[in-house]
Amino acid sequence: MTIKENLQKIKQEIPANVTLVAVSKSKTIDEIMEAYDAGQRDFGENYVQELRNKQPLAPKDIKWHFIGTLQTKQIKYIAPFVYMIHSVTSIKHIEEIDKRAKQNNRIIPILIELHIANEITKSGVDDSELFELLEYYNNNNFANIEIQGLMGMATFTNETEQIRQEFKHLKKIFDIVKEKYFNNNVNFKHLSMGMSNDYMIAIEEGSTIVRIGTLIFGERKYNK
Ligand SMILES: *Cc1c(COP(=O)(O)O)cnc(C)c1O
Repeated sequence: MTIKENLQKIKQEIPANVTLVAVSKSKTIDEIMEAYDAGQRDFGENYVQELRNKQPLAPKDIKWHFIGTLQTKQIKYIAPFVYMIHSVTSIKHIEEIDKRAKQNNRIIPILIELHIANEITKSGVDDSELFELLEYYNNNNFANIEIQGLMGMATFTNETEQIRQEFKHLKKIFDIVKEKYFNNNVNFKHLSMGMSNDYMIAIEEGSTIVRIGTLIFGERKYNK
């Protein structure tokens, strides 16, 4: 199957109101262009340096989603163009994104990454850290950042019931946060959950953004 065929198949499976982010980490500009020519515009990258290399070579109307572990000192490099940052996990991140967004005269949409997996290796804040972060955000006036929702990664397992419970938890927290911290504001609207192995479960549990790499581009080979 070609990249185009893979995209068409996934597009047919997901509802029109769910955004498909094509995760292009480790993939070449040619592979990105194949997806682009098939109509894909939202792409996800995990590494700042890789994204900085690719962005100038790719079409300007691509919406770049940053989904990898975020390092505060690297935020300035993506602030001029990044479409959305999914992986915010600290007050330092929020302060730095707001500062760099201001310098670029823009508002950067962000998601807070919640740790939902039963694995210590996956990043994200826990529930109590999330509420601390939101208190802090609400007590300050960050004019150049907008929290639009939450992101999470389920445990990598074949136990679909476990995955479903983790997504259910994320959705529950999303609903609580939306009401308690955002007064049900419509701009708090995104739940970024679901990858190649679990996106249909994620959509059933309320996902609005799925991040899919392998199923579009094939297996990743990093030879660094
Ligand atoms: C790599 C990655 C994905 C895509 O994973 P696939 O299993 O290849 O679909 C999605 N989200 C994040 C945060 C990732 O790091």
